[in-house]
Amino acid sequence: MGTKGFLKSLKDIFTDVLYSISDFIYPGFCPLCGDRTDLDLLCGSCAENLVKEFSQLMFNKNRDFPNLDENAYFDQCICGWNYTENVKRIISLMKYNGQENLCFFMGDILGGYLKQVLSGFDFIVPVPLHPTRERERTYNQSRLIASAIKKQVPGLKLSQILIRKKYTKPQAGLDSKERQGNVRDVFIFRKREDLAGKKVVIVDDVITTGATINNCAKVIKENGAAHVCCISIARPLT
Ligand SMILES: [Zn+2]
Repeated sequence: MGTKGFLKSLKDIFTDVLYSISDFIYPGFCPLCGDRTDLDLLCGSCAENLVKEFSQLMFNKNRDFPNLDENAYFDQCICGWNYTENVKRIISLMKYNGQENLCFFMGDILGGYLKQVLSGFDFIVPVPLHPTRERERTYNQSRLIASAIKKQVPGLKLSQILIRKKYTKPQAGLDSKERQGNVRDVFIFRKREDLAGKKVVIVDDVITTGATINNCAKVIKENGAAHVCCISIARPLT
């Protein structure tokens, strides 16, 4: 094996190690490809690829959410990317690894591409974490994504009008029936904005069965909103 081949296989091993220790990031190396990077998140080429791979997947509320056990209260649902290994890894880093920069980075791309779609919307609302979970994580990834989207869309106001009143189990790991029950009636409206006739965007990191966003949309619609659009990074297959 020549030096080049040897270095290549070292790099492959290193990348495998990085992937296998999913809660660990080696500073100075891209968490996706393992290449050295001076940036404090992805290397230039992985960042560029993510921008190119943006897919704007539109889901139909009547056709694409068969596991919802009640009506869909939202009107539109858009996910930015296909749930590839890289996107999955990014979401995990955003949620469990303190990668606030990645939240802003992904939100920035979403906001840039969805500027037209979201023009005329009034409020952008992150899906809230329970305060205890937010303290553990130190931030709410959906709020960071929402704040980056807001910067790209003139007139959109970031408002945390929802509160999660129950400390629920993480949705990941539950089946679709359990997911419905887990988030039923857990969100309440914080009377901070007049939503009458307003257009609202709800932001979550992932949308799976739609149970979480639908419960948020329900509260927002019940408080007068005219139209609700849900946005996430991706939609994992259940
Ligand atoms: Zn990279």
